[in-house]
Amino acid sequence: MSRTGLFDSHAHMDSDYFTDDRDALLTQMQEELDGIINPGCDEITSGFAVSLAEKYDFMYAAVGWHPEDLEGILDNSYLDELAAWAVHPKVVAIGEIGLDYYWKGNEPKDVQKRRLLEQLDLAKQFDLPVIIHDRDAHGDILEIFQKEVTGVRAVFHCYSGSLEMAKELLKRGFYLGFGGTSTYKNAAKVREVLQYVPDDLLLFETDSPYLTPVPYRGKRNQPGYTELVARNAAEVRGTTFEALAAQTTKNVKTLFNKIK
Ligand SMILES: [Zn+2]
Repeated sequence: MSRTGLFDSHAHMDSDYFTDDRDALLTQMQEELDGIINPGCDEITSGFAVSLAEKYDFMYAAVGWHPEDLEGILDNSYLDELAAWAVHPKVVAIGEIGLDYYWKGNEPKDVQKRRLLEQLDLAKQFDLPVIIHDRDAHGDILEIFQKEVTGVRAVFHCYSGSLEMAKELLKRGFYLGFGGTSTYKNAAKVREVLQYVPDDLLLFETDSPYLTPVPYRGKRNQPGYTELVARNAAEVRGTTFEALAAQTTKNVKTLFNKIK
């Protein structure tokens, strides 16, 4: 594979799915991609993301507590830990954070909202963008970003909301991230949004090891498949792969402005 000029704005390379071949894969990815952002989901994975970013020039970390992992937070000292990481030169965002009302075992909605608002506040303090996870929580997410939060830059990763919600987010300058789901046959709604997003607010991602794009759906996802996402998007948007690769990599560096 040759250099694609693409950036995978969201890949969990800390995942156990990569235990056996992580270094071989990342060494290969270094030749194909301009960069990878690895978001953390709790204390251990955020720390792992930072160590990968220290090891590989083309990797960057985000640190945060995912809404599925909040039971691991014992007290507010987690914010001090995030603050200590936030000043690291390769920590480029707070994430992944958000709301997840899909899994019944998650913390109650009020706890999820409180932890999200605390982490948004921290991002604001450190002038870092945020990476937002929203699963079955579109109404509450939109309300928070319309009413409660100002001055925070954000990407809504693996966007799954409606076109109407997308319009509300885009007019506030928020970015939308698209990955494997935008290639799925039954995802006409996602493609409708993908087609609508202005060039300068579009990001690509894989969410590796999950949500593998067609034709590898069901197998392990990996950052090299950003190319499949981008080729599909070029078709949906009626443009070229090369133009989209250059544009979305520029967008990554605009939103995550610690990346030079
Ligand atoms: Zn993720």
